[in-house]
Amino acid sequence: MGRVDVLVVGGGPAGRALAAACGRAGLDVGLLDPAPDRPWTATYGMWCAELPPDLPARVVAARAAGRAVAVTGHRLGWEYAVLDVPALRAHLDDGLAGVRVHAGRAVGSPEPGVVALAGGSHLRAAVVVDAGGRAQPLGPRAGHRLPAEQTAYGLVVDATLAAPLVAPGEALFMDWRADHGEPGWPTFLYAVPLGGGRVLLEETSLARRPGLPLTVLRRRLHARLARHGIAPPPDARTEKVSFPVDRPRHRAAASLGFGAAAPLVHPASGFSLAASLRLAPQVAAALARHLPADPGAALAHARAGVWPPAARAVHRFRRIGLEALLRMPPADVPAFFEVFFSLPERHRWSYLTARDDVRGTAATMGALFRAADGPLRRRLVAPALLPPVRTNEAAPIG
Ligand SMILES: Cc1cc2nc3c(=O)[nH]c(=O)nc-3n(C[C@H](O)[C@H](O)[C@H](O)COP(=O)(O)OP(=O)(O)OC[C@H]3O[C@@H](n4cnc5c(N)ncnc54)[C@H](O)[C@@H]3O)c2cc1C
Repeated sequence: MGRVDVLVVGGGPAGRALAAACGRAGLDVGLLDPAPDRPWTATYGMWCAELPPDLPARVVAARAAGRAVAVTGHRLGWEYAVLDVPALRAHLDDGLAGVRVHAGRAVGSPEPGVVALAGGSHLRAAVVVDAGGRAQPLGPRAGHRLPAEQTAYGLVVDATLAAPLVAPGEALFMDWRADHGEPGWPTFLYAVPLGGGRVLLEETSLARRPGLPLTVLRRRLHARLARHGIAPPPDARTEKVSFPVDRPRHRAAASLGFGAAAPLVHPASGFSLAASLRLAPQVAAALARHLPADPGAALAHARAGVWPPAARAVHRFRRIGLEALLRMPPADVPAFFEVFFSLPERHRWSYLTARDDVRGTAATMGALFRAADGPLRRRLVAPALLPPVRTNEAAPIG
């Protein structure tokens, strides 16, 4: 293959969205993935207000009013959208007409514009994008610290069966009640409609270093469901979730990190899909403004679009939020979320979604501090002064 304008490494949602946007911007694009035709199996969701404006309505499988339970119940004031993942994939693939898709695994970028593949061959591009997800195949080498991971175990059941936990038209973003009956590391129920009369019930550990084992989550989910009189059928479809929420920022000089590889992952919620889909056209426009004439300027401007100073500052705040969660005594976690979900809507919204709103994020943290009692205040402030938690292994699981 000759040199393309942009080579996107990684054909997940972020990589496909960016490759398609670059193609639409008139660039010559390549997309590399070890298994480019492998279907996606994860359930993807985001808040309705985050849906990219150009996403066709058919890509949304269900919309539902967001609710959360911390110590008491809260209506969030926003709708949640669960995506029809095969429809999302088909929509993104439609945009790949003209993109050269390669099956292969990147093992490094020995020099700017060159990607080395397992097997010894190379691909060349004016600009290389690493959208390889958690692996960050062209990113910084993994450090010594254990990753903080979000893990979850879910079952798909009929909506009628799930009704004791999630009413029709509702999406339960988090339910922190310890209905699983276990002390120890805090987990919550995420329960969202999938459309077609089906609901995903998922026991979730928001973050732990390392991730809470799926066996624990599976046991807790079954106990929680039993507590509510729900007996899932033995052949219910399962979903297993495990991904890091604290990957280091992609700083490789020769490539641009995008998607979960950037990482666009919100360290204190795990969400990244909305940010990736919404940023893709902007990053493509930045690349197209300078290609093919000036690859260096294209890379620099695209990087500035992914990580403007405001987004870097918000990311630092969110990382402090993550460390506060990792340090919080398990019994205090529902009370912390009670304070968070009681904040005015604008504060909750900016903390959860606005990745470059420094003022909004700082205002949320200030409001949280003012609403907290003395011990919680100390727990919120200490992580800004202390090193990251090395491991949560010593904390009892249950
Ligand atoms: C079950 C599950 C449910 C989730 N639900 C949500 C959700 O509801 N909302 C949300 O925002 N996030 C969710 N997430 C987080 C999710 O991982 C990301 O939002 C999303 O998948 C990130 O997309 P991405 O394209 O950046 O990375 P990925 O989806 O991880 O894609 C990376 C791609 O890079 C490829 N790749 C890896 N290494 C190489 C290499 N060396 N060379 C070439 N290609 C490579 C991989 O094959 C893969 O196709 C969920 C995760 C899981 C596991």
